[in-house]
Amino acid sequence: MILELSDVHAGYGKTQILHGVSFTMESTEVLCLLGPNGAGKSTLFKGILGFLPLTRGMTLCDGEDISIWTRSRMARTIGYIPQSHVLAFQFKTLSIVLMGRTAHLGRYATPSKKDEHLAEKALETLNISHLKNALYSEISGGERQLVLIARALAQNPNFLIMDEPTNNLDYGNQVLVLRHIQALARNGLGILMASHHPDHAFQYASKVLLIKDGRLCGAGSPDETATEKKLNALYDVRLNIAEARLNSGQGSVKVCIPASQEHATLH
Ligand code: ADP
Ligand code: MG
Repeated sequence: MILELSDVHAGYGKTQILHGVSFTMESTEVLCLLGPNGAGKSTLFKGILGFLPLTRGMTLCDGEDISIWTRSRMARTIGYIPQSHVLAFQFKTLSIVLMGRTAHLGRYATPSKKDEHLAEKALETLNISHLKNALYSEISGGERQLVLIARALAQNPNFLIMDEPTNNLDYGNQVLVLRHIQALARNGLGILMASHHPDHAFQYASKVLLIKDGRLCGAGSPDETATEKKLNALYDVRLNIAEARLNSGQGSVKVCIPASQEHATLH
């Protein structure tokens, strides 16, 4: 399946935020969207999902304009995990994951045994079956993020949009969540995720998009797109890209390191 954004413009009221964003992705890719705070990453996601009407351009799925799709068709095709998800849910995690099945149910239907089975399978995929009866409000931040990913998986979409999926997670949980994301992509789920870490693009993405002031200023393979020059310009900060050799003889990976003697002002 191919998701295509063509000349997407969107904004809030009279303020235009996105100015002609175009790219394509396949449901086998991991796309990492990098850009400074306020660049328009979350706005772009809301535009794709139809939460925000496009003022120009369109989003196509296998050539079909998705702006006319029903909410449930949209949910069956594109899953979404928003940026801030501090939900005061007093629900068991299994119930939250079951909510992902809503898009597959008839208007008045309640979840069936099959739905429950699919929700349990989603928990299993993320190795968190043991949490199924725990209260969402009483599990850790990393576990909550995995529960939200499980909910999106139960939805069984072709694409999953994740807005800063590792935000607020400790280092171990960041790695855990990213590894799960990578495994899901290998199993045929297209992932579009926003991140603040160029390293995530180097390690996990097949393609990277750079966005600044509502415009894409780079798109392509991480090696060709997340270059020192482009990242310097993207974040207004001097940085170096180094090649780190992996101990276990598994080749090398690029890493982003701030340049020393940095006197840039924060934005
Ligand atoms: P990012 O996710 O890249 O940090 P956003 O898409 O959230 O950026 O925001 C892009 C711009 O849109 C910012 O200038 C922000 O202030 C503005 N913005 C975001 N949400 C709203 C809103 N609900 N109403 C008005 N302006 C908004
Ligand atoms: Mg955002």
